[in-house]
Amino acid sequence: MAGLEFKSVYKSFGRTVVVEDLNLSIHDGELFVLLGPSGCGKSTILRLIAGLEYMDEGEIVIDGRVINNIAPKDRNVAMVFQNYALYPHMTIYDNLAFPLKVKKVSAEKIRGIVEKQASLLGLTELLERKPRTLSGGQRQRVALGRALVRDPSVFLFDEPLSNLDAKLRVSTRAEISRLQRTLEATMVYVTHDQEEALSLGDRIAILNEGRIQQIGTPEEIYDQPRNIFTASFVGSPKINLLEARIAEDRVKIGGNSGIPMADSWREALKDKTTDAIVIGIRPENIFYERKSGDDLAFQAEILHTEFAGDRHVIFCRLGESEIRVKSGKAAPSAEGEKMELFVNPQNCLLFDQKNEKRIL
Ligand code: ADP
Ligand code: MG
Repeated sequence: MAGLEFKSVYKSFGRTVVVEDLNLSIHDGELFVLLGPSGCGKSTILRLIAGLEYMDEGEIVIDGRVINNIAPKDRNVAMVFQNYALYPHMTIYDNLAFPLKVKKVSAEKIRGIVEKQASLLGLTELLERKPRTLSGGQRQRVALGRALVRDPSVFLFDEPLSNLDAKLRVSTRAEISRLQRTLEATMVYVTHDQEEALSLGDRIAILNEGRIQQIGTPEEIYDQPRNIFTASFVGSPKINLLEARIAEDRVKIGGNSGIPMADSWREALKDKTTDAIVIGIRPENIFYERKSGDDLAFQAEILHTEFAGDRHVIFCRLGESEIRVKSGKAAPSAEGEKMELFVNPQNCLLFDQKNEKRIL
């Protein structure tokens, strides 16, 4: 049985279609990430699950039960937001106890549950304090705890780490991942941060303008993107996308002589009517030296270099395109010079320039 299912869900605000024909099946015990740019409909989808918005069409099913007509408080979902939403005048203990008090749980039982969750989240020492005396990371842990005490069927996270600094984001992210595995909880986690999505998700759905672009494991999303949007949304530095034209034994990039044609490309392109493609190459897959016999060699001009700790990122010009290379300690040539670069055709993605779908 699926933990949570969307069946042809539509939602508009006035004339703006925000969620369009959403079909999605989230497994019981899965950490499922919705990843997409700001405004693509992520929060709206969570609010539909929580019952804070009505859908126009379709069904949402939790544990086999259609929840369309069930009141928000009876849906047994808990939401954690970016801005914590703690009660400032209450102690941490009372903040954690509040959802249980509302449900008329006995004081003794509440104490047991709160103390257990507080210890799970490392909040025991903080129970008598007020939210304003806590750091951002501690407050977010309290918000998490307040969701936990309710023991919901589904946890909903709406960009819960956006207000934390980089270091805390990483540690809180690990905490959420650990909790999810301990509790075997079903979680729907919304973010616009591709790194967060790749590191956290059992599976990811990529959203753009209210439509799912692709659903898959982080590896599938990164290595096998179905279209240009997905390819360019994950990965840092961004994937190189080179607009190219097929010209017999080469693919020409801008006015440049381009890249030699690989046999596998010729095979994949032979039934295509278009000769306008986009070649996608991740920056870590371009090298200064040949790695294998079938590598393709091409010339590029070095523009500038950035230090990235473990590597340098080298920006080069190839025809009219700029490409990023992230595979070596330092560039073997200086700015303004031409250098030879190598890529294996197996590490290249080919897209149709017109419909932006992947060909190979
Ligand atoms: P995200 O969380 O991905 O940034 P949202 O779900 O918040 O996106 O919003 C998606 C779109 O719906 C945006 O264009 C936003 O302006 C619009 N929207 C969201 N809520 C409302 C509302 N209550 N009334 C009108 N438009 C809304
Ligand atoms: Mg949002």
